[in-house]
Amino acid sequence: MVFKFQRAEGTDYLSKAAVAGALLKKHILYAVGGFFSVVFGTILIMSITDPTMRDDILLAICFLLPSLFLVYRGRVCSKRLDSANYYNTFLEGDIDGFVALEDLTKEGLDAGKVRTELELLFRKGFFKNCTLQLEGNKSGIVLPDKVQVEESRMIKVTCERCGAVNAVRLGGTGECAYCGSTLIGKE
Ligand SMILES: [Zn+2]
Repeated sequence: MVFKFQRAEGTDYLSKAAVAGALLKKHILYAVGGFFSVVFGTILIMSITDPTMRDDILLAICFLLPSLFLVYRGRVCSKRLDSANYYNTFLEGDIDGFVALEDLTKEGLDAGKVRTELELLFRKGFFKNCTLQLEGNKSGIVLPDKVQVEESRMIKVTCERCGAVNAVRLGGTGECAYCGSTLIGKE
């Protein structure tokens, strides 16, 4: 039981491959988009200020816009990574195997936006070892590894000697983490 709980705590919910892929994409978009934005931005300024280069204005704009778009896509990629990391902190901190959508929207985020963003992140494969549940009245993220812990019913037992609250498996026994007294797992 204790072993399972420890394993659950060590579970990764963020896909390292997806994160690495998104990071690489972000860097490439920033580098390529940034480089060409500077190049065509400079050409644009030159063509505006230099009368002999007037014909190049349109051309410079035609190349500058897609370059800026690449930078914008890099920014989208970066924000997506931030979001994935943000949601992951909730998953790692969870103990009962379920993170409700409401809990993820607490930080002043719009519920609809969180839902859309999570759907996208799951579709893009950012998360693993968990599933997004959007049907029924309980929407949220299910963490099967931690659900196993929940199924074996850890209950809170107050130590009779020192008053500390410990988690003990229902029907089992445990030891108070503070004073070492034997604890009985019954409600
Ligand atoms: Zn105690």
